[in-house]
Amino acid sequence: MNIVIVGGGIIGLTGAYYLKKSGFDVTVIDKNDITDGCSFGNIGYVSPSHFIPLATPGIIKQGVKWMMSSSSPFYIKPRLNADLMRWGLTFKKSANNQLVEKNAPHLNNLLQLSRQLMTDLKNDLDDFSLVEKGIFMLYKSELTGKHEKEMAEQAEAFGLKTIVCNTQQVQEYETETEVDVAGGVLYLDDCHVNPEKLMQSLYKKLKELGVSFHLNTTVTGFERNGNKISAVTTDNAKIQADEVIIANGSWMGSCLNY
Ligand SMILES: Cc1cc2nc3c(=O)[nH]c(=O)nc-3n(C[C@H](O)[C@H](O)[C@H](O)COP(=O)(O)OP(=O)(O)OC[C@H]3O[C@@H](n4cnc5c(N)ncnc54)[C@H](O)[C@@H]3O)c2cc1C
Repeated sequence: MNIVIVGGGIIGLTGAYYLKKSGFDVTVIDKNDITDGCSFGNIGYVSPSHFIPLATPGIIKQGVKWMMSSSSPFYIKPRLNADLMRWGLTFKKSANNQLVEKNAPHLNNLLQLSRQLMTDLKNDLDDFSLVEKGIFMLYKSELTGKHEKEMAEQAEAFGLKTIVCNTQQVQEYETETEVDVAGGVLYLDDCHVNPEKLMQSLYKKLKELGVSFHLNTTVTGFERNGNKISAVTTDNAKIQADEVIIANGSWMGSCLNY
């Protein structure tokens, strides 16, 4: 069975890795050459601690403030765009306690599984600088501290290991810098990688395993046989497919319209 994956970012390449290992023929198509992009230029933080969905009731007020500031972590250039407005309304509708409670356990399962898979990859790929010493959530006010401690309790209930630290204990961990915080929670299951090295190691391993690559090739449409996709069309070839996985990141909207 030939499985065609559209997009050679981290989702496409890890998908290719596990499918190939399970015995499928895999073809990855990318419009670039797998040397750059979101999956190369991120922070490399693998975070089981982040089991609370982004869409929480408090985030809307904070998010609107952030959206206006180009230096914030959530800046979106304001523009009259139907897709953006539709996304914003759906996000607002999802930001309620009921959905947060319903979705957190599922997110927790996904995050913990992803974390375990990092260990798989560490054992099979060239070194990608996996650092497994946990990550701190630090706080400066007691109010935020109360919230962080509640989060730590919830994390423990989900099976994560945490250490709640006061200022002095944080300082004892962070010997290289003078800390200016009221305290912190160390999430021991969190880890970080060098994303560029991870992508390069994955790409090298996939070539060794015999995954086919069509690079500098843009997917332009799909051929259908009844209600099934039978081939992927690109700007320079047609590729037969038994199954198709769309993993083209933020370009997904355009692909779904083909
Ligand atoms: C600044 C920053 C920091 C981040 N930090 C973290 C972090 O610490 N931890 C974390 O978990 N996440 C982080 N993220 C998010 C993470 O980087 C992304 O979620 C992830 O890289 C998305 O991977 P992807 O494979 O879905 O998409 P991408 O990496 O964007 O890959 C999609 C690929 O599809 C290709 N493509 C698109 N359209 C077509 C087409 N029509 N035909 C062929 N190919 C096509 C593109 O060329 C691209 O290579 C961060 C993101 C940013 C921007």
